[in-house]
Parts: sequence; structure tokens; C-alpha cells
Amino acid sequence: MTLRGTDQPLAALYDGTLLDLDGTVHRTGSVLPGVVQALARSTAEHGLVHVYVTNNASRTPHELVADLSAMGVQTDPTHVFTSAQAAASLAVQQTGVGAAVLIVGGSGVREAVLAVGLRPVAAGARPDVVVQGWFPDLGWRLLAEGAFALQQGAFWVATNLDLTLPTSRGVAPGNGSFVHALALASGRKPDVVAGKPEPAILVEAAAASGLRHPLVIGDRLDTDIQGANAAGLDSVLVLSGVTDAGALLAADAAQQPTYVAAGVDALLSSMPATLADEHGDIRCGDARVGLDSDGRLDLLTDGAAIDVLRAACAATWQAPAQPDLTERLAGAIAVWERR
Ligand SMILES: [Mg+2]
Repeated sequence: MTLRGTDQPLAALYDGTLLDLDGTVHRTGSVLPGVVQALARSTAEHGLVHVYVTNNASRTPHELVADLSAMGVQTDPTHVFTSAQAAASLAVQQTGVGAAVLIVGGSGVREAVLAVGLRPVAAGARPDVVVQGWFPDLGWRLLAEGAFALQQGAFWVATNLDLTLPTSRGVAPGNGSFVHALALASGRKPDVVAGKPEPAILVEAAAASGLRHPLVIGDRLDTDIQGANAAGLDSVLVLSGVTDAGALLAADAAQQPTYVAAGVDALLSSMPATLADEHGDIRCGDARVGLDSDGRLDLLTDGAAIDVLRAACAATWQAPAQPDLTERLAGAIAVWERR
């Protein structure tokens, strides 16, 4: 895969976006610069519909709308989609409306399973399906009920497999850690997983919003971009979150995005294509990058930092896999990051 370019603003090519939250729209609770304006303008000028998609199953869409509003991002519950909603949709597709569900989760999962017409049952009943999603008060008694239901053969839907959850005080266990606990107790694995990097959450979010040709925007290669590729959707990797140049250059095909941009405001911009010239070097805008036979990246002509990175990505991703390429790239990346 290589990076695509466009002469038109990116927003003109799609009918909507599926937006990651942390690292894309906001960072540690503060909206990132330029995001609100870019989202508003892309809607006003190109008719883009923006849908906020999160693996966090603990919050209801109304609560997420309030969280976003507090940061200055205005939306409504029909434009927010959680892994709990995707999980509920997968569960009802498996069991049919009216099936008995054990909720190993909080209000986010409860509201989602009720919305699709599943019937929550109390501990001790024999559920058809277990929907498991993290919430802050998840405890042993509820996990034990989940384990009993799984041993009795209930279909198992996990909202997501994120092992950890970043908090202001450090890294805490995420839903994936609790999935492991139930897997160890029951000797089973989830029958289906809804959240990124599984494609279901993106496919369901697009369907629920009536989007036919959405663009996925996110900051993580192993969730947002891998999920977009798995769903067959175009994606933008934004550099406003956890992914740095080194991780991006080292991405394997499953995690390579369609576009790379500094942030969400790239929606309003055209993007230079990455093109191989007659020497086999890669051009992007003014930047020109070569990769020698030892796999060493050379910056041949300088350009905007983002175009240098785009050209380097295209050069690296098309090169034959070399085990120590990442190590060699590290030197080149360090040089660019000092620029
Ligand atoms: Mg993120």
C-alpha cells in the first residue's frame, strides 16, 4: 500500500468521517487546536457528517455527547457510536430480538442491549448471550456470573480487547484484561469482538449513520488504522496522538493508512501524492527521499516536514522487508525530529 494524494480538499471525497476521540479530537480532556473549526467547516462546505467512534463501552451516547460538549465539541447522540452499541448489534444478529442477555458491563452496555431489543436477565438465569464491556465498578460477582453463563454455553460478545486503559494516575486494566480473566475461568475465547481493530464497530457506525463512503480518522495504527483496513475503508493517521514517525515508518501493510496528516484540520486541505520518479526515488510535494540498497533512507531534497515523512513512508513501505530496517530508520527519524 502507498499513500494516496488528492488535488481536492480531503473532505470533498467522502460523505462523512468516523472519528477516534483521544489523540484525534482531544488529548487528556482538551480539544486539540483547530479541530472544532475544521469539523464545522467540512460540514458547512462539503456536507460531511461526523460520527465519533469509541471503544469505551462504559459511557452512553448521551454521556459522551456531554463529555464532548464540555470540551467545546457539539454533537448529538445519533452521531456517537460506542463499542457497546456495536456489541449489542452483533449480539442481536446472533440471537434475534428478545433473546436473554447477561450484561457483564455498566450503563453503556445496558442501554445498548435494550436499544436493540435484547432482554436483560438477572444472575442465575440461563442467558443466550453474554455481552461484556468494561465499566468502573466491574467486580468479581458479576465476572463470576459471566463465567457461569459461558460454561453453560452462552454466546460471548466482548465490546473490545484493549488490555489497558490510560488514566490520569497511570495505566489501569481495560476490558481485554477482564476478557482474559473470563477466558481463563471458562476455557473459552469470545465468539465475537466489536471494538477496534475489529471492523465491526466501524461498519456498524457507518450503517447506523447512513454513511456509504466514510473516512476513518485516528491516531493509533493497531486500532484505528488496522480496523479501517479490515473494514475496507480509507483512513487518515493523524500525528496528534500516540503514533510517532518511527512507528509509522515501521507499520506493516495491515496498519498502513491511506493518508498521513498532522491533525484533523487536514480535512480542509489537498494532499500531494507520493510518486516514484525516474530514479526510483519518492517525491511528495517538494520533498524527495531515496532508499539505498542497504535500506538506508536519504533525504535528497528538503520539503515540508509532513511531506518528507509521507515520502519516507512510501519509500519504506514499498521496500522489501528487512529485519533491521527499523533500526536503520531510527537514525533518519531522529535527524528529522530535530529539524
Ligand atoms: Mg486515539
